[in-house]
Amino acid sequence: MITLESFQQIEDRHTSGVYSKRPLTLVRGAGCTIWDDAGNAYLDATSGMGVALLGHAHPAVTAAISAQAQTLVTCPEIFYNDRRAEVYTLLADLTGLDRFFLCSSGTEAVEGALKAARLLTGRTQIVAAKRSFHGRTLGALGLTWTPHYREPFAGWTPNGITHIPYNNRDAAATAITRDTAAVIVEAVQGEGGVYPADPAWLRGLRELCDQHGALLIVDEIQTGLGRTGRWFGWQHAGIQPDMVALGKGLAGGVPMGAVAWRESLGTLEAGTHGSTFGGNPLACAAAVAVLTALREIDAPDRADRIGGWLLDQFRAADIPLVREVRGTGLMIGLELRDRVTPIVQALQECGVLALVAGKMVLRLLPPLILTEAEAQRLRDTVIEVLTDARA
Ligand SMILES: *Cc1c(COP(=O)(O)O)cnc(C)c1O
Repeated sequence: MITLESFQQIEDRHTSGVYSKRPLTLVRGAGCTIWDDAGNAYLDATSGMGVALLGHAHPAVTAAISAQAQTLVTCPEIFYNDRRAEVYTLLADLTGLDRFFLCSSGTEAVEGALKAARLLTGRTQIVAAKRSFHGRTLGALGLTWTPHYREPFAGWTPNGITHIPYNNRDAAATAITRDTAAVIVEAVQGEGGVYPADPAWLRGLRELCDQHGALLIVDEIQTGLGRTGRWFGWQHAGIQPDMVALGKGLAGGVPMGAVAWRESLGTLEAGTHGSTFGGNPLACAAAVAVLTALREIDAPDRADRIGGWLLDQFRAADIPLVREVRGTGLMIGLELRDRVTPIVQALQECGVLALVAGKMVLRLLPPLILTEAEAQRLRDTVIEVLTDARA
């Protein structure tokens, strides 16, 4: 179709309006680089929202997707499937958990976790954290803290959810009772501003959950699969959760989510949950390729090494505009003393795409394949832009 309108004009005419869009049309990616429709290249420190753990168009993932597309794309869970069996094996090995419900997004993984927690415990109360983000469908939205997201739907989100301050042991001790079905937390709060959990707090939550028979659910949708320098963020605290939500990078950009729980909790009764696309062969084949490739490059170790170096560099730079540098592995937040939007715009003009977390935090989620040279360029550009912005 030949059109005189730009892609952006067409999108603007039809989009729902729920996204604040940047005026940039991205058309192609390879590794940590992504190109716009004018042929400009950018270093991608967004990973498409933390998704492209292996960068863009990773050869093994691309090959797995194309091979599966020519073999079998759809196979609902009323049947068995070879790729699904493979992904279960890999996920069980990585998570230490044995039961899975597969779906197509992060918020669906959280919905699945909520329903599973209720069915497996027979309880209805949930404890979540302030500043949390767990998704935007109505169940998950009840867990998400930001009033701007939640309040327009008051009355439609589940009852029985208590929000406690993150990293606060006393609040947790008061909130968790024998009526608590589950406590759900992010290992590092991502959307909320890149706040890592205090390992001692996570261990405290583990103890409190054990005392009261509540499930500890860790939302690893953004932190999982190596991002924080471990396979999962909870490993920084040396604990084992009862249930885990996964999404974002799980299938390398093919939509996929998963909720996992420990064997001893049992299984769910047939019909209590389900999804047409859940466990579809295309997503499962992509996930098998992603998990295998992440292992081959020892992605957690890379994230730990290169992310640790970046964090050190940003801290040492001591930039006046930066109030605090937070993060772990390749999940980095720079809290500014001013609004972050102009910084993201300036970075884009210098060929670097970055994310925000709230109004004041610059969030960097580069692919875990980021090379040392790319890390240096990211450091140089970010420091230069933040330093110039002050002048
Ligand atoms: C992105 C995200 C979600 C929601 O995932 P979607 O795929 O956008 O539904 C939930 N929890 C966390 C921690 C996330 O980062």
